[in-house]
Amino acid sequence: MAEISESAVRRVLETVIDPTTGKSVIAAGMVSGIATRAGHVAITLDVDPARGATLEPLRQACEQAVRAMPEVLSATAVMTAERAAPPPPPTPRGGHGHSHDHGPRPGGSAGGQPGAKTTGGNSRIDVPGVKHIIAVASGKGGVGKSTTAVNLALGLAANGVATGLLDADIYGPSMPRMLGVKEKPESADGKMLKPIERHGLRTMSIGYIVAEDTPMIWRGPMVSSALEQMLRDVQWGELDVLVVDMPPGTGDAQLTLAQRVPLSGAVIVSTPQDIALIDARKGLAMFRKVAVPVLGIVENMSYFLCPKCGERSEIFGHGGAREEADKLGVPFLGEIPLHLDIRTTSDNGTPIVASQPDSAHAKAYKNIAGRVWKQLSAPQRGGRPAPKIVMS
Ligand code: ADP
Repeated sequence: MAEISESAVRRVLETVIDPTTGKSVIAAGMVSGIATRAGHVAITLDVDPARGATLEPLRQACEQAVRAMPEVLSATAVMTAERAAPPPPPTPRGGHGHSHDHGPRPGGSAGGQPGAKTTGGNSRIDVPGVKHIIAVASGKGGVGKSTTAVNLALGLAANGVATGLLDADIYGPSMPRMLGVKEKPESADGKMLKPIERHGLRTMSIGYIVAEDTPMIWRGPMVSSALEQMLRDVQWGELDVLVVDMPPGTGDAQLTLAQRVPLSGAVIVSTPQDIALIDARKGLAMFRKVAVPVLGIVENMSYFLCPKCGERSEIFGHGGAREEADKLGVPFLGEIPLHLDIRTTSDNGTPIVASQPDSAHAKAYKNIAGRVWKQLSAPQRGGRPAPKIVMS
């Protein structure tokens, strides 16, 4: 199938007129993002929050117009009101008045994921009780994204932060293997699933429900609804941070997730080679496009640490991610060596931060977790930080 071009979508949106101003959504500068992938189109409309719900028919008109294009399989338009949104008020957390006495709290705000972002329709996926949702992403597969996600989550927990881990990599769920989970999640009421607890983390993965070796073909809308269910229909309870292991790459599943989930930020995992090949930059660009702050870059397989003699070899030209992070103006969170222990522990269900908490590798992950938490809990960041819109 021929890929749908952004300019073709733009041309169609030029025919969608906002009756209040008489201008097309393009002419009015409302369209802040268009992403297309294998027949699926995602459009971001940046709107005046004062007009809010009155713009719902216009949002639907955009979807309908794009859906009518011959090669389009699905079209989703999301309204965001980022530019003029005031900082989130320090509202008390909803729920049961339960408080964790074991962990640091984000300074200055007890707010949940209060919305600087408002979306149209029922687009936004809220997870009540969860203060911060962060995405762990990579430009492509095989760079150690899942290994980093699980050890980062364990590192947060080790820092006293109440943490959950959602394996959103529905194309290749790895949490059953990495956490050694064989049982199926239970449900007390037949509606909500109980997360599976491992090493002090509340976890959920599509791999707990569907066998890991079952080939699955997911189309855009199915991806969204699977992810939505894993966020909404799981009893996450009260969490400081929910770490989401994203599907690799920067396609429509990732974009939808980044748009619909109120993410406090994203961590990009990259290898030294990958940084050179700009895959990681694509990940960065995607989050910037949807105004999700990038908390920083982790360089994985940064250098080779010989398990026998401890000698360090910089086989991939280590250090590229730090330079790249500087160049792109995002924090560098740390480097993790290529080491056999990291692979064997994560492949047999005992990730290194849980099984060898005092090892140098575990400390490296904990330091990264500390840097992430520091950013999330900074006083100016109550819940979702003030986003910056970057026009693409
Ligand atoms: P991704 O999620 O990016 O596809 P994974 O986390 O599944 O990647 O990692 C791919 C493979 O590389 C796994 O077998 C994992 O154990 C291994 N791996 C990841 N990071 C490291 C590391 N720092 N040192 C050694 N092996 C690693």
